Amino acid sequence: MARPAGRVLVVEDEPKISEVVCSYLRRDGYEPLAVAGGAEALRAAERDAPILVILDLMLPDLPGEEVCRRLRAKSRVPVIMLTAKAEDADAVAGLGLGADDYVAKPFSPRQLMARVEAVLRRSAGEAEAQARRLSFGDGDLELDARTAEVRKRGALVDLTPSERRLLMVLAANPGRVYSRNELIDRALGPDFDGFDRTVDAHVKNLRQKIETDPREPRYVQTVQGLGYRFARG
Ligand code: CA
Repeated sequence: MARPAGRVLVVEDEPKISEVVCSYLRRDGYEPLAVAGGAEALRAAERDAPILVILDLMLPDLPGEEVCRRLRAKSRVPVIMLTAKAEDADAVAGLGLGADDYVAKPFSPRQLMARVEAVLRRSAGEAEAQARRLSFGDGDLELDARTAEVRKRGALVDLTPSERRLLMVLAANPGRVYSRNELIDRALGPDFDGFDRTVDAHVKNLRQKIETDPREPRYVQTVQGLGYRFARG
């Protein structure tokens, strides 16, 4: 099973905990990005488009609650809070900050990684559910997942089933990087021949149909060494 090749922002001022969390994330195929403070976390969240934020509640500059609130004001990125005590977890939950999950310290890295997977699975499902109708570039490109129709400047685009599934998976989570293996798993299915280059060929054909300039793709972007992502905004 392919793992998402996405960045995970780790906001934790205790170096030992941060290192352990990062090494487990790396081992599971994620790209950890460690910061030690809240202000830095907010900058990194905007700049680096993480797929998930692991956020310590007690930070030296801003309280974790405040960081979570500000993250939420700008994005739907899932947040897992790290709390110092079990009581804190209850308190944080009661504040309704919009964190997706809580893990009380001390935690086992394996326990945290299980939460990471569960939260990512859940948020991908929600994003796909909400992605029934999507419009990009002021109506330049429109997708309707129910009718499976794709329109470019109002005109129906004729896509192959593989191109259509690729587009729907990518567009359901703008900004999220999908590895070629993950796209094979999620969009092309078990009958797919499994060659990474075939993913590239489908993407190339897709760009010919939905991009105004396929050589300068606005929607389906290549992320060098990682895979593809659908542009945000
Ligand atoms: Ca701390």
